[in-house]
Amino acid sequence: MARMFINGQPVDASDQQVGEIRNPASGEPVDTAPKGTAQDARAAIDAAHAAREVWRETDPSRRGGLLGKAAQQIAQNERGLAALLTREQGKPFSESAREIQRFVHTLEYYAGLGKNLRGGYLPLDNGAHGLIMKLPLGVCAAIVPWNFPISLLGNKIAPGLLCGNTFVVKPAGSTPLTTIRVIALMHACGFPDGVLNIVTGSGSVVGQELLTNPKVRKVGFTGASDTGRHVMRAAAETIKHVTLELGGSDPMIVAADADIDEAVSAASVGRFYNCGQACLAIKRLYLFDEIYESFLDKLAAKAKRLTVGDPFNERTRLGPMHSQAQRAEIEEQVSDALARGGKAVVGGARPAETALEKGYYYQPTLLVDAPLDARVATEETFGPVLPVWRVTDMDHAIELANHSIYGLGSSVWTRSISQAMKAAERIEAGYTWINQTQIIYDELPFGGVKQSGLGKEHGTEALDYYTETKSVVMAK
Ligand code: NAP
Ligand code: MG
Repeated sequence: MARMFINGQPVDASDQQVGEIRNPASGEPVDTAPKGTAQDARAAIDAAHAAREVWRETDPSRRGGLLGKAAQQIAQNERGLAALLTREQGKPFSESAREIQRFVHTLEYYAGLGKNLRGGYLPLDNGAHGLIMKLPLGVCAAIVPWNFPISLLGNKIAPGLLCGNTFVVKPAGSTPLTTIRVIALMHACGFPDGVLNIVTGSGSVVGQELLTNPKVRKVGFTGASDTGRHVMRAAAETIKHVTLELGGSDPMIVAADADIDEAVSAASVGRFYNCGQACLAIKRLYLFDEIYESFLDKLAAKAKRLTVGDPFNERTRLGPMHSQAQRAEIEEQVSDALARGGKAVVGGARPAETALEKGYYYQPTLLVDAPLDARVATEETFGPVLPVWRVTDMDHAIELANHSIYGLGSSVWTRSISQAMKAAERIEAGYTWINQTQIIYDELPFGGVKQSGLGKEHGTEALDYYTETKSVVMAK
């Protein structure tokens, strides 16, 4: 039985309740985790609040040093952590291993910034001195979804801890196990008690306490846009800082002069990674008329060859979807497209193999001819389904790409520098890749525009989102 971690101690829920965590590939139980109460969340917030002083007084180089030590610890445990992540989440083992490596990289990146935290100095009129201080915010909540439980945790705690903040982590209700182990491994590296706490349980109970408790000064949230709206409203009561990383519907535009084979491979990986359950997955594909047929033929051939099955099998490219509810949602979105003139050129159903019946499997799917107001065009599709449309030129492609409430990532494939730069400037998104896609860099600020979010993670920009800027004036 996994346990929460509050003030340096492993603990159960105050009312002893636990929830069962099941393997999405088989329905088998993996372990149980505490169903934390509001009282547990308050205990963790109080511990984080009490630990603020000692942590903000800890030298930044030591804070960075501890992050570096944690990176080594996690790297040494990569295989075990990855196996647990696959069992609770469903993604192929190789993808879980890559997620742990990403987390390690994020810890290392911010560890390296420990000696580079800076503010500013300005000479003012009449000989006064102006200082711009960057001070920690205090207690931060990290609320994380189930699709990338570990890498999305790193985006919050690595910059936040470096800046001198303390944390209460709330993983998704269905993926608490790897996160618990990661927090325990990190704590063992020497973080003072109370600096890093984890409370498992539901968003409506534990999450709600984090959003409303006045001692919490910042909420770093990744999840669905609807939940993000709720987070923003609830945080408004006590004027908390919020960073919101929300849903996306990334367009990919392929021009007639693109390297088609490269783009076909990128579309396949970009859509089917993690069984399509990625905020940054390619969710809409726009192909120039001239290459529409040939591109689609190649992509269809590739999609048909992808192995769906046991996530521990090395040949598997698509494991199960994470839950029954996720699959049901994708099935409804596909039905809507098919009922309105769309056609599935690949997939469009669950796999036929009886061996896969117990898991939440769905075939890689390519849809053509769906109308532009079909659900697959206007909503986020969080599964292995890619709708494809024809466009006449770059202006047409950009217009359709921007026809969405979302603006997270995007990519454009062309050999023309001017066309690429036009797309990079005009596509409404936080990221535009040119002739590459869906690769995230710790060094570059990341975050959506429009209803995909607010604020940035990654890069030195993330440090601004975990500090309060204070001006100090000293008279001559
Ligand atoms: P979700 O339902 O919004 O859940 C995300 C987290 O919020 C979970 O820990 C959840 O806890 C918690 N939560 C739910 N209700 C809450 C409440 N009332 N108060 C406080 N916390 C609450 O998201 P999801 O559907 O699981 O995740 C998929 C979504 O995340 C997609 O839309 C995806 O695009 C988005 N995403 C965005 C990014 C990005 O960086 N922009 C990255 C990855 C995913 P429970 O699980 O216990 O309900
Ligand atoms: Mg949810």
